[in-house]
Amino acid sequence: MRLILLCALLLIAPPLHAAERLNVVASFSILGDFVHNVGGDRVNLTTLVGADSDVHVYTPAPADAKRIADAKLVIVNGLGLEGWLPRLVQSAGSKAQVITASAGIAPLKLGSGADPHAWQSIPNAKIYVTDIAKALAGAVPSEADYFRTQAEAYLEKLETLDREVRDAVAKIPPERRKVISTHDAFGYFAAEYGIRFIAPLGVSTETEPSARDIAAIIGQIKAQKIPAVFLENISDDRLIRRIAAETGARVGGTLISDSLTGEKGTAPTYIDMVRHNIKALTSALDH
Ligand SMILES: [Zn+2]
Repeated sequence: MRLILLCALLLIAPPLHAAERLNVVASFSILGDFVHNVGGDRVNLTTLVGADSDVHVYTPAPADAKRIADAKLVIVNGLGLEGWLPRLVQSAGSKAQVITASAGIAPLKLGSGADPHAWQSIPNAKIYVTDIAKALAGAVPSEADYFRTQAEAYLEKLETLDREVRDAVAKIPPERRKVISTHDAFGYFAAEYGIRFIAPLGVSTETEPSARDIAAIIGQIKAQKIPAVFLENISDDRLIRRIAAETGARVGGTLISDSLTGEKGTAPTYIDMVRHNIKALTSALDH
């Protein structure tokens, strides 16, 4: 009798199998990293736009609809970054709750709309992480303590990272805190940490700059003595190389903007990405 009861109990409370983890879809790799840090092994995470890929112009694969249909939560950046996503959620017939990770931040204006690249400010990243932890806890209340503990540990790391960035920028002479990057991905970084970014591609990688835009940038680099231009891991680098050749500005390396790199790359995590970028910026600008 006792043995039967024990067996029955084991059947009721089995260990956490993959099938019982919370199915979460993150739209792109940076959000995926935040979800991974908070959700740990309690979450079955799928990231739609993977390493070194451009979230602005993503074309969903047929398998993505299935992933969305199976998800309980879909975590998106919002602010117009994932223009392709609402149709995907609709066509998947998904009942998933869509969580906008940027909902708690104060958006910056860029052109006629909001600048979607809010994660480039670490204080904003902390808001993303806090809200992701709340969403996960809301979806699985029995794991709320676990998600909170995970989030607190990660938020502490982000706090340290924020201090590293401020210390590094402080060492760059103020008149040299200006660079050219490919597209306008660093507005929040600029506003938070005081480095000026000028970008020939504008807010999205979707639009090509005109000859006039390029001429204007070349004029600006020469007039303002901008020390360095940067490539990005998601963009074609021919334009920036041409601008560098015509102005004599140094190519300062590659900035990681909208996507993490693969495991073997320089920035497989958000923290790696920020450290990589700040190292590239300081080594190009501080002398
Ligand atoms: Zn972008």
